[in-house]
Amino acid sequence: MEVKLLSPEEITTIGVGAPRKVYFPESLRELRFLLKENLPVIGGGSNAVLSDSTTPLISTALFRNCTFNGDTVTLGAGVRLSQVLKLQQKMKFSLFEFLAGIPRATVGGLVAQNAGAFGEEVKERLLSITYFDRESGEVLEMEKEEIERGFGYRKTPFPEKGTILNATFKIRYEPGIRKKIAGFVSLRLSKQPPFYLKTAGSTFKNPEGESAGRLLDLVGLKGFSIGRIGFSNKHANFTVNRGKASFSEFKELVEEARKRVETAFNLRLELEIKIF
Ligand SMILES: Cc1cc2nc3c(=O)[nH]c(=O)nc-3n(C[C@H](O)[C@H](O)[C@H](O)COP(=O)(O)OP(=O)(O)OC[C@H]3O[C@@H](n4cnc5c(N)ncnc54)[C@H](O)[C@@H]3O)c2cc1C
Repeated sequence: MEVKLLSPEEITTIGVGAPRKVYFPESLRELRFLLKENLPVIGGGSNAVLSDSTTPLISTALFRNCTFNGDTVTLGAGVRLSQVLKLQQKMKFSLFEFLAGIPRATVGGLVAQNAGAFGEEVKERLLSITYFDRESGEVLEMEKEEIERGFGYRKTPFPEKGTILNATFKIRYEPGIRKKIAGFVSLRLSKQPPFYLKTAGSTFKNPEGESAGRLLDLVGLKGFSIGRIGFSNKHANFTVNRGKASFSEFKELVEEARKRVETAFNLRLELEIKIF
């Protein structure tokens, strides 16, 4: 099995922290062996920040299967969103167009985070999930009813419950999908920092009925920086790494944001970003 020492920029989109060892299992047997050691699983690292820990990570990059069956598609956890969008355009079907423009995200990460945008969520397209159950050590299936019960706004039982191996989605023939994808990319660009900046997407989850970005803006954090890291000038909930920021700079920024929002609104912001 391949193991590499990778830079934070190679592991995550925001590039905070220090280099880390990453394992690339190719089979279930190799994955099972690594999971026994309790190592965390990372996808594209687009909602992730590396801490100062030295615990190696498991990458799902080599779990790349893709099988069509009528109006469904089964995708391996390591398949990239960009690859799915290419397939959608080639074969003219609807699936993840509302997420178009998110860099590096994988199917495993999109499912584990129940990613969503513009009023749509991954959960709505999901039919079933095949996962490696942490407790029993067996490969199990999660069906639609359980997904309905367990998935909410950026909330799922994963990765705590286990490691997603692949997921099956309902697809729909959509002749105008190319235009729809382009439309979502433009919409995203109008609201978020430009694609070339180093960010991990939303830093905090939106509190119920509120927008974390709006609250951060109200407490003066839009464009605010600590050291080499700060909140975007365009969207206050997007943390941007303006150089080679350290994990302690990231932590300081998060604590400052929480302190200001708590003082002003008596509300504790919950991190959407996962720390590894
Ligand atoms: C510019 C930008 C814009 C973004 N916009 C959005 C947006 O509009 N909406 C949105 O929801 N998100 C958005 N994000 C955040 C991010 O893309 C999503 O959360 C995405 O789902 C993360 O996928 P990933 O593969 O990168 O996961 P990672 O960041 O690698 O991991 C995220 C979580 O998923 C878990 N995970 C990954 N793979 C597996 C697996 N196989 N089994 C179990 N658990 C797993 C990890 O352990 C971790 O807890 C954005 C990010 C960026 C950089």
